[in-house]
Amino acid sequence: SSARIPELKRNDELADLINEFNGMLDRIQRFIDQQGDFVQDVSHELRTPVAILEGHLQLLNRWGKDDPEVLAESLSASLQEVTRMKSLIQEMLDLTRADQVDVHFPNATCDVNETVTQAVNDFTMIHPEFQFTFDNDLHAPTYVQMYRNHLEQVMIILLDNAVKYSTTRQEIHISVSTDSDGVAIAVQDFGEGIAAADRARVFNRFYRVDKARSREKGGNGLGLAIAKQLVEGYRGTISVDSALGHGSIFRVDLPVLSPAEVARLDALNDA
Ligand code: ADP
Repeated sequence: SSARIPELKRNDELADLINEFNGMLDRIQRFIDQQGDFVQDVSHELRTPVAILEGHLQLLNRWGKDDPEVLAESLSASLQEVTRMKSLIQEMLDLTRADQVDVHFPNATCDVNETVTQAVNDFTMIHPEFQFTFDNDLHAPTYVQMYRNHLEQVMIILLDNAVKYSTTRQEIHISVSTDSDGVAIAVQDFGEGIAAADRARVFNRFYRVDKARSREKGGNGLGLAIAKQLVEGYRGTISVDSALGHGSIFRVDLPVLSPAEVARLDALNDA
């Protein structure tokens, strides 16, 4: 952009400084662009529920006073739409907060073994119609540097999706294991799967393979964007492997803390 300082060819300190400054300007510009995109996406997403709400309110206004059937139906549809908007707003808040994770890198430690076990137990209870299998290779507490509620949130998003996008085969397989890079958590379903072209995009905010279907299931297309932002904020990675019509595996990799690092962080917390 015009604010940039022309690059110097000489390789001296001033040139380094100018490069540094121009890099900063680029980062600021990217940030501004991203904010602009976000506002545009959000406005777009709010249009549908607001239009639906407006339609029902107009019905109420015209006929609702005289027709008890219109009154009951429009009121309940309006309430439902308001509830959806509330969850959309909550998810957007989660998304912007998840964005700040790496700014506030916490002194918190979280036991993956316990947190994932808990999430699997919760889902087993909430969804008795599903068969959950859990392959837990961790035989001891295994700590990551992360707020526990954030790992819980990631698990809920992945397990919720596995339930939502399963078709006839109501089976979900969860596994946890460690390797040299850290801890790997995988959530596998045997549902509709995701086509190759959609796979890379499901982590984008508001992206849904089938908008109508996702909406019907109460989805806003933000879950995976939140999960990705959280996981990456903690220096982890999230990925998906899938075969259309056969199911999907979502995998989260997180760096594991050494016992010495756990002790150091716990000492900081006790202080
Ligand atoms: P949503 O609220 O729509 O579920 P997500 O961000 O969690 O939003 O997911 C984005 C889209 O990715 C979903 O609308 C769906 O099309 C697809 N998707 C996510 N998880 C799965 C899964 N386990 N199986 C098939 N498709 C999935």
